[in-house]
Amino acid sequence: SSIFAAVELAPRDPILGLNEAFNADTRPFKVNLGVGVYSDDNGKIPLLAAVKAAEKARVDAMLPRGYQPIEGPAAYDSAVQNLLFGADSELISAGRVVTAQALGGTGALKIGADFLKRLNPESKVYISNPSWENHRALFESAGFEVENYPYYDAATRGVDFAGMKSFLQSLAAGSVIVLHACCHNPTGADLSDAQWAEVVEVCRAQGLVPFLDMAYQGFADGIDADAVAVRLFSASGLQFFVSSSFSKSFSLYGERVGALSIVTASKEETGRVLSQLKRVIRTNYSNPPIHGAAMVAAVLSSPELRQQWEDELAGMRDRIRAMRTGLVDAIKAQGVEQDFSFVAQQRGMFSYTGLTAAQVEVLRSEFGIYAVSTGRICLAALNSKNLPYVAEAIAKVVK
Ligand code: PLP
Repeated sequence: SSIFAAVELAPRDPILGLNEAFNADTRPFKVNLGVGVYSDDNGKIPLLAAVKAAEKARVDAMLPRGYQPIEGPAAYDSAVQNLLFGADSELISAGRVVTAQALGGTGALKIGADFLKRLNPESKVYISNPSWENHRALFESAGFEVENYPYYDAATRGVDFAGMKSFLQSLAAGSVIVLHACCHNPTGADLSDAQWAEVVEVCRAQGLVPFLDMAYQGFADGIDADAVAVRLFSASGLQFFVSSSFSKSFSLYGERVGALSIVTASKEETGRVLSQLKRVIRTNYSNPPIHGAAMVAAVLSSPELRQQWEDELAGMRDRIRAMRTGLVDAIKAQGVEQDFSFVAQQRGMFSYTGLTAAQVEVLRSEFGIYAVSTGRICLAALNSKNLPYVAEAIAKVVK
């Protein structure tokens, strides 16, 4: 018999499964609010002008394609550090940050998880309830037991901070706590700066291992404003992990450009940590791909391209905000009594709308509007053409 006879069919990824259903839908007015991708007002994933310019220069240069350093090129790693920690960061100048290029934010989480498993094999990992759907599977596949910490409060549509804090205070030293640095996926509910400061203190008091996941820097309030959690942890003197991604902020989803940064206690420690991280990378994929990271490094190291990118990033951020307020207003204009104003307060690409699984199903079957069954919608998939239709459909299903 076949060597694969015992292979069971794995469940479909819920969000990618939604995409497949959307693609198979022949209704012309269909709208995909499921997947976490930013589209412009024409419903297209943008190719940023700054990226285009950097790419053109690269293509024209026709460079050879040798292997990269295992941790990625220094110019890229340094550009990542400057964005996350600030160009004037004392941690950077003290040599206390190690950064390795990774295959998107997902790849960064994975090499971080693999490294952590070797470091603290007995630790448990805690993720927010709810969290990005891949967090649990990813840390479990690295061998960890994964549990939730309280996060979203459906009643207030915000964060149950008291619940979160007291839970964190109950954790054993060495527990790994995965935190969404900004633009929480899936809820859109973020911690305030003051709450972040409290989380830092709890991590210190309990001896927790903070792992910040920064997939949306620049999508809430701005590059530096969105890094507040990273900056507060930096100022604390603690050691911590940051996974970061340029998938969204550079609209480079398929190029898989991200990084893992680890803050250590000293320059000497940085060297040892890097040596182990390189082992993890070497045994997974040897060294990272060139192209996407080269474009990011080129944009970030050219004052003109960087300015152009910052303007384009601000444009994406402002457009999402306009879609948030536009949706709230349009639903209200339909005479809906239920309050949706929280959608305008939430941050990043997503909102937990409070729509039930049954309502989401009606949106799909009757209106061709695809959302996640939890009620999560992607605001960045709305545009001036489909927003009125979506608002009308939501009004009909909630009335
Ligand atoms: N972390 C969070 C919270 C995300 O929302 C995402 C993407 O959706 C990622 C990580 C992964 O990003 P990437 O596509 O760069 O792997």
